[in-house]
Amino acid sequence: MPNSIEHFQAPKCRECDEPLDKVEYDTHEQYEFNPKTGTYRNSDPYGGSCEQKCPRCDADLSRIFGEGVANYFCGKKANKS
Ligand SMILES: [Zn+2]
Repeated sequence: MPNSIEHFQAPKCRECDEPLDKVEYDTHEQYEFNPKTGTYRNSDPYGGSCEQKCPRCDADLSRIFGEGVANYFCGKKANKS
């Protein structure tokens, strides 16, 4: 029986077929030392690359969350008849 409290259904991982109630999010940023100021600054104007992974099987989820996890919206209702 579906839980009546849940309104939306999380997408499923393509590898382990488990609903993605949690997503692992790793960002990779690069900082560059500036000898003129003696400080480091982020050398990537877009804030670096990131990886979205399934916490259960480590599958790459970038195809599901191509726009980033925070921008994802699932319009699928859990109790679709
Ligand atoms: Zn998985």
